[in-house]
Amino acid sequence: MSSTIEQELEQIRSRGLYRSTRMITGKQGPHVEMGGRDVLMLCSNNYLGLADSPALIQASVEATERYGTSSGASRLVSGTMALHELLEAEIAAFKSTEAALTFNSGYAANTGIIAALVGRGDVIFSDRLNHASIVDGALLSSARLMRYPHNDVRALESLLKRHRGAGRALIVTDAVFSMDGDLAPLGELVELKKAHEALLLVDDAHGSGILGAGGGGTAELLGVAKDVDILMGTFGKALGSFGAYAALSGELRELLVNRARSFIFSTSLPPAVLGASLAALKIIRSPAGKCLREALISNAASFRSLLSEAGFNLPVGTTQIIPILTGQAETTMRFSEMLLEEGIFVQGIRPPTVPAGACRLRCTVMATHTRQDLEWAASRITSVGKSLGVI
Ligand SMILES: *Cc1c(COP(=O)(O)O)cnc(C)c1O
Repeated sequence: MSSTIEQELEQIRSRGLYRSTRMITGKQGPHVEMGGRDVLMLCSNNYLGLADSPALIQASVEATERYGTSSGASRLVSGTMALHELLEAEIAAFKSTEAALTFNSGYAANTGIIAALVGRGDVIFSDRLNHASIVDGALLSSARLMRYPHNDVRALESLLKRHRGAGRALIVTDAVFSMDGDLAPLGELVELKKAHEALLLVDDAHGSGILGAGGGGTAELLGVAKDVDILMGTFGKALGSFGAYAALSGELRELLVNRARSFIFSTSLPPAVLGASLAALKIIRSPAGKCLREALISNAASFRSLLSEAGFNLPVGTTQIIPILTGQAETTMRFSEMLLEEGIFVQGIRPPTVPAGACRLRCTVMATHTRQDLEWAASRITSVGKSLGVI
């Protein structure tokens, strides 16, 4: 007999994997209001602190006043508005690509793009630690999915040699891995993609707006932007808005417009969101954006060193994503709860988001955290970590 919903929930609970949401009552900032208290936010992807920026708020309000609250339909029906086209032109200029296409979220972008590019008879080569939306896109596509060990280009090469097949091959990777904060070896992936005539899709949800001298992202930092077929990024993280984009050739854009089901069958982004995204891009491409990136990089470096001096086990990395490895789910969730009691919000990350035994507190710093915020947080994290025997 199939299990009841109640039994299934009980099973999730008993494995320490039960999830629930926590409510924030004000704006998203370096500090937030939770349950009437001021709490230090240490788990948001609002890395540059743009989500409560007056410039974004104003642009969003103005776009709503001028264009209304909804796009009314999918882009191919009647939902292509001037702001969609403007945003795509700005993204293409920012990424130095021929064209760009917006999507309703990063999740919708990855599922739509992957299932549009490959299908039965094709093969997807995907890093084992890629984001869930990439895995789901692969499943939707019906293409064969070959997962290679994290960042292991030799293993990828031998998979390509053995399973390249006659159909299309797609290599797909996170650029900055969302749960580890390390970078993909994009230069080597580009070489493999060329040698094996594969397409390369790079998901830069966590690097776009942050890495590279101009904030163009991981591909800009590593000097390979021109060789990536599709550079995907999101507006909901460093850009403080919502939605996603693919920066690509005009030809690939045409294909996605005709084939990507999440683009075709979903109402397009509304003016408020497009206005905020345009304002965020303007900031990111200005000297103010450079200052925010520098503040973020310096905050990440100092928080990393405070935690590693305290003796925490941190995976090697340099980005604003700083995971503290904690092992088992129960300790991880206890750690997170105790920190919230202290006034620090950090989420514990458990399977299936990360492999079993690799639970972690995924700390993310923001450009708008002060040095004092981070020193205080590190000292509280250290004392809770000691009391739980993590260090
Ligand atoms: C967050 C994230 C996504 C999904 O983007 P949303 O806009 O939040 O749907 C996709 N890929 C990666 C690597 C992410 O971290």
